[in-house]
Amino acid sequence: MVCPNCKSKNIGKIGANQFYCWSCFVEMSIVKGVLSLHQVEEDGSLTSLDDLFEDYDMRIEL
Ligand SMILES: [Zn+2]
Repeated sequence: MVCPNCKSKNIGKIGANQFYCWSCFVEMSIVKGVLSLHQVEEDGSLTSLDDLFEDYDMRIEL
């Protein structure tokens, strides 16, 4: 699995369908085989990054 944001493989699993990229600090969740990306802000809130990616980039092989 590769981070769609920075193409890094430095990804850790933080939940059943949740992953975290240690290179760009983005949280990923997988819903029905499609990635949803969220940036974790300094105050702990999440900002969606889904608008930055095309559907093609968000589809992953499980
Ligand atoms: Zn990344």
